[in-house]
Amino acid sequence: MARIVFFTGAGVSAESGIPTFRGKGGLWEKFKVEELATPEGFFRNPKKVWEWYDMRRQAVAKAQPNDAHRLMARLEEECGDVWVITQNVDGLHQRAGSKNVIELHGNIWRVRCLDCGAVYYEYTTPLPEYPPKCKECGGMLRPDVVWFGEPLPMDALERAWDLSRTADIFVVVGTSGLVYPAAQLPYVAKENDAYVVEINPEETPISSIADEVLREKATVGMREIYPRLRERCGE
Ligand code: NAD
Ligand code: ZN
Repeated sequence: MARIVFFTGAGVSAESGIPTFRGKGGLWEKFKVEELATPEGFFRNPKKVWEWYDMRRQAVAKAQPNDAHRLMARLEEECGDVWVITQNVDGLHQRAGSKNVIELHGNIWRVRCLDCGAVYYEYTTPLPEYPPKCKECGGMLRPDVVWFGEPLPMDALERAWDLSRTADIFVVVGTSGLVYPAAQLPYVAKENDAYVVEINPEETPISSIADEVLREKATVGMREIYPRLRERCGE
């Protein structure tokens, strides 16, 4: 039975109406990364960073998983050994029904206390104040996401690495392949003889190592490849 691993980025949620960072209409065209997605930016202006995150939380709350998320979840239900490694923080894979999800960059619904270290899910949005306060100790909360310059959660990274090494089919969907160390994973899969597929309307550094490229949006590409994946995992 083939092990199928999906590796997803912001592009898989684009058709759910959630803007990507890079590419056409990406968030970085309008906002400065160093102010909003770095620890330095946060400590300089926690209110501003929290306003931005709360705006994104509201957008995610209104969004629905799309067919790309759904087909990945369906394949997991039908085949079992199917995994999603995601750089996204929006939780849409889980909402579509995927259970085997590894989040490399945290989750936008989770908060972390800078005083007592408490970590918990906080679904209220809009938040009552910026920055919001810890429910345990009243300390300042930050979003439990990975910012530029911060290390990835070790357990998630290790599992992602193992899955990439052992994947038979590795499908890269909607990532620019520029954010390391996550962007290393397709190379790990390829070196270990996985069949690598890329689904992305634009060319990326991953395109050149892919065995097959679908220059399509995530939903279109997933609809196209789903029947073949279904066949392979049933072997
Ligand atoms: P990115 O913004 O750097 O790249 C997005 C990629 O998606 C581009 O290559 C673009 O061509 C492609 N794309 C655009 N529309 C698409 C579509 N309909 N179907 C398929 N592909 C499409 O995103 P990234 O590679 O994920 O990396 C950057 C960081 O962005 C990650 O760390 C992640 O945490 C963060 N991020 C997450 C979300 C989210 O959770 N939804 C949104 C924005 C950014
Ligand atoms: Zn606290």
